[in-house]
Amino acid sequence: TPSTKKSYKITLLPGDGIGPEVVSVAKDVLLLTGSIHGIKLEFQEKLLGGAALDATGVPLPDDTLSVAKQSDAVLLGAIGGYKWDKNEKHLKPETGLLQLREGLRVFANLRPATVFPQLVDASTLKREIAEGVDLMVVRELTGGIYFGKPRGFGTNENGEETGFNTEIYAAHEASMFWRKRVMALAQEYPDVELSHMYVDNAAMQLVRYPKQFDTIVTNNIFGDILSDEASMITGSIGMLPSASLGDSGPGLFEPIHGSAPDIAGQDKANPFATVLSAAMLLKYGLGEVEAAERIESAVLETLNRGFRTADIYSAGTKLVGCKQLGEEILKSVESHA
Ligand code: ATP
Ligand code: MG
Repeated sequence: TPSTKKSYKITLLPGDGIGPEVVSVAKDVLLLTGSIHGIKLEFQEKLLGGAALDATGVPLPDDTLSVAKQSDAVLLGAIGGYKWDKNEKHLKPETGLLQLREGLRVFANLRPATVFPQLVDASTLKREIAEGVDLMVVRELTGGIYFGKPRGFGTNENGEETGFNTEIYAAHEASMFWRKRVMALAQEYPDVELSHMYVDNAAMQLVRYPKQFDTIVTNNIFGDILSDEASMITGSIGMLPSASLGDSGPGLFEPIHGSAPDIAGQDKANPFATVLSAAMLLKYGLGEVEAAERIESAVLETLNRGFRTADIYSAGTKLVGCKQLGEEILKSVESHA
């Protein structure tokens, strides 16, 4: 145990659907891991998304954003659900999440896709192709066509409805722009091997031979598509964490899955993605690498001991609910040397 006890403020945003179930597990895992590593974690729980809409009338209350900004890291569950699907845009849970990302100025989205050896058979790819895949998609989160201006609707000369959106680059050729910037930066990191690929080829290579990738750096829309594609290689959406980072201020850590309203409140949710997001929080958000690695090991250990939620269950393993899986992860955290 280190002699100086470090202390951090964590904002918890459980959100909607299965969010509160999986965040509760991750919180317990963080607390236990912190206590083992001499890290004091102080949690503040706030409203976001549908839960915030119901209680306050807005999807991101001021109080939530200010507490999040003042903390060292933010852990989010998931937001949204059928109940709010027909709301106007500014009253949608998803708008709250976009506002939160903007408010925290997080622009780099890290999405690891790791095929756990215990879950190789859950992959959509053949065993020999999926085995050993361990890659990270780094996606730009605040720019590109999703935020393009000008955008709008109109009609063409035949009276048909049209729509347009804009993607602006600082150079004529999008690919040249990226290439130049990346190559300039790469000179500062001679130990990083760099290669370039067009996105259509990358999409194909991801399912042809994913082991060739270590880190994929890409823009907002391509990163969205490629990371969803990569996620399927790993089996379940319930396994995949993410981190969104800026150049200062707290990072935002969340599972890539949504609020899964179809299984909410039934103790069926897979908490691994959120627990792994908590590990990313320790590693990338607080720089507590050893504590993060303890959590990663505990996840592997829990899988080794055969415990599975329904989404990753296979014959011969032990089917458990979200809560019990949480208990088993805690045991693994505790027992890990
Ligand atoms: P969003 O629009 O918020 O991304 P979505 O509609 O894409 O949400 P999810 O909420 O991610 O969808 O759910 C997709 C499917 O995956 C659902 O059948 C859901 O039950 C399942 N699922 C999602 N997360 C988990 C989890 N942690 N454990 C088990 N099943 C999950
Ligand atoms: Mg989705």
